[in-house]
Amino acid sequence: MYDPPPERPLESDCCGSGCLPCILDVYEDEYSRWKIRQTNHSDQLRRDMLSVTKNKPFKIAAIEQLNKNTRLYTFIAYPETNGYLPIIYTQHIFIQVDNITRPFTPISLSENCSFKVLIKSYINGKFSEKLIKKSINDIVYVRGPSGGIQFNNADKLNMFCAGSGIAAFIGFIQTILKNEKCFTIIDLHYSCKTLDDILLRKMLFDFSLFWNCKISLYLTKEEDWTKCSESFWYNETFFKGRISESVIKDIINKNKNSQSLWFICGTNDFNQHCLDCLLKYNINKENIQIFHDYLKKK
Ligand SMILES: Cc1cc2nc3c(=O)[nH]c(=O)nc-3n(C[C@H](O)[C@H](O)[C@H](O)COP(=O)(O)OP(=O)(O)OC[C@H]3O[C@@H](n4cnc5c(N)ncnc54)[C@H](O)[C@@H]3O)c2cc1C
Repeated sequence: MYDPPPERPLESDCCGSGCLPCILDVYEDEYSRWKIRQTNHSDQLRRDMLSVTKNKPFKIAAIEQLNKNTRLYTFIAYPETNGYLPIIYTQHIFIQVDNITRPFTPISLSENCSFKVLIKSYINGKFSEKLIKKSINDIVYVRGPSGGIQFNNADKLNMFCAGSGIAAFIGFIQTILKNEKCFTIIDLHYSCKTLDDILLRKMLFDFSLFWNCKISLYLTKEEDWTKCSESFWYNETFFKGRISESVIKDIINKNKNSQSLWFICGTNDFNQHCLDCLLKYNINKENIQIFHDYLKKK
């Protein structure tokens, strides 16, 4: 298959407003991937394995139970092949199981045309009930990708999430942290009921080791705080209670001098609460984005 090198943009193609990723960085990434492809066929971008208009078969390659209602699934293109799926982190794909389709946000992509998604199951959830019955090696159907976050001109990204809402931000944060030329600061506030409910805790801890990423964890239903705090890891930042109005107000005050964007992903109530607080303290609606917006479905 003919695989031409990516077209080189002119220096003047960069608008200078801090797009993420900048067109010049995209070129460098694409060029280095193209160079690898000349010797190593595993880095091919496999546009043939995923389509926005047609469901393609994927096999369940692994299932890991993360907490009582959330699992990490690995789906791999079927038949198996090499290369990367054409998905940009923050985009979602649609998974269909027995004729029920729902959107999900991949949190990692691998060179064997596989991707991982964190999936929370809901009691009486139409999709949840179908998926829970599936096992390793079963086939599901996938189409996409769709959506995705775009931002420019922000020096700080504030993220509020609850429970499985963290899925929306994992790939997004990785994209920023792995880009050494990106100086955007990430301030993630993640709310869970108990310590055991925190999803991808080790990954979040690793993110927090980067100079530009701060992770704050809020536990809303831990009764014995003294006992619970014995299990905190060195340098983890925990708070007891909810991401309340006063918490959000403090965060807004600390952002007075920065060009900030605000991202929210959680339950319907959580999203509404965060949105109301941000608007109350005069955050411009245009700078707020809500993910997996369940409000829209009602
Ligand atoms: C763009 C986008 C990306 C998404 N990415 C992910 C992801 O990465 N991981 C993930 O687990 N989910 C994600 N979701 C949600 C997912 O698509 C399904 O909505 C969810 O799995 C429930 O489907 P269901 O058929 O089991 O429940 P449904 O039959 O649709 O709903 C049954 C009941 O479950 C409850 N419920 C369902 N969804 C929600 C919700 N989001 N918040 C609160 N209560 C709810 C409600 O009480 C509802 O009445 C995403 C949604 C969108 C729009």
